[in-house]
Amino acid sequence: MKKVSFLGLGVMGYPMAGHLASQGYEVTVYNRTTDKARQWCQTYTGTLAETPQEAVQQADLVMMCVGNDDDVRQVGYSALSAMQSGAVLIDHTTASAQVARELYQACLDKQVGFLDAPVSGGQAGAENGQLTIMVGGDEAVFSQAEAALNVYARHAQLLGESGSGQLAKMMNQICIAGIVQGLAEALHFGQQAGLDCAQVVEVISKGAAQSWQMENRATTMLAGEYDFGFAVDWMRKDLAIALDEARRNGSTLALTALVDQYYADVQKAGGRRWDTSSLLTRLT
Ligand code: NAP
Repeated sequence: MKKVSFLGLGVMGYPMAGHLASQGYEVTVYNRTTDKARQWCQTYTGTLAETPQEAVQQADLVMMCVGNDDDVRQVGYSALSAMQSGAVLIDHTTASAQVARELYQACLDKQVGFLDAPVSGGQAGAENGQLTIMVGGDEAVFSQAEAALNVYARHAQLLGESGSGQLAKMMNQICIAGIVQGLAEALHFGQQAGLDCAQVVEVISKGAAQSWQMENRATTMLAGEYDFGFAVDWMRKDLAIALDEARRNGSTLALTALVDQYYADVQKAGGRRWDTSSLLTRLT
């Protein structure tokens, strides 16, 4: 069984590392706030490391799931400085394609494999081991990591060269932004029209208007519940990455840019940690 290290035990990383330990992998964990790593080691079988370097020395596979590009650089380069040649570094953070390509090259120079592998499925997907993983990198490197990724994924797929995983995740977030705003407007409209929105949703979710957001968020939106799920602050980070990439590749993301500004309104109203479905609060 491969030796793995997991760097970053946040909402996502904590349960992902837990699945690896539960499946018999020899896991070493590092978290900046060491208490969280200590707590993890009390729940699962694994070894605690105080620094990324200490965590990765013996590892065949190193996973990290941190915050943004700056964090990826900080943790990634620190890990790489101590990794053995032939090992693989897998980044599950949602970050830019640029930082992925940069780390890919730095890893290549040290005979270490690198995969950008952002995830979709949220906290529930991480806890249930049902994530979707969008991967960029080399096929041979993906083969080395695939079995371990499938421990916490429903579907993990290589989508192209380095950076492709992050670009795919941008497509994912572009879709979500537009769909959530559409759903929020429909619910707002229904309320203004005096309809029983819950009943209408039950009907239209069986037709062409159906979406994951409608199935999983319409009821909680109608109840004004937003203290769960994927936070607005994270979404704005992701949309900024997508809009930045769009400026580079010449695509036009008019709706995404608009919804990004709507999320800025939600942040100003105190909703930085609210779920992304809180777009409805601007309308009611
Ligand atoms: P989180 O709960 O805030 O956890 C972030 C983790 O990264 C923590 O362990 C934090 O350590 C660590 N970290 C951040 N910056 C660091 C640095 N500079 N050096 C060392 N450690 C650092 O975030 P999350 O919800 O797990 O999300 C992680 C990533 O996955 C983000 O890119 C996010 O966009 C993406 N994602 C999240 C979801 C979701 O539903 N939450 C879904 C899909 C993708 P501390 O404990 O010390 O703060």
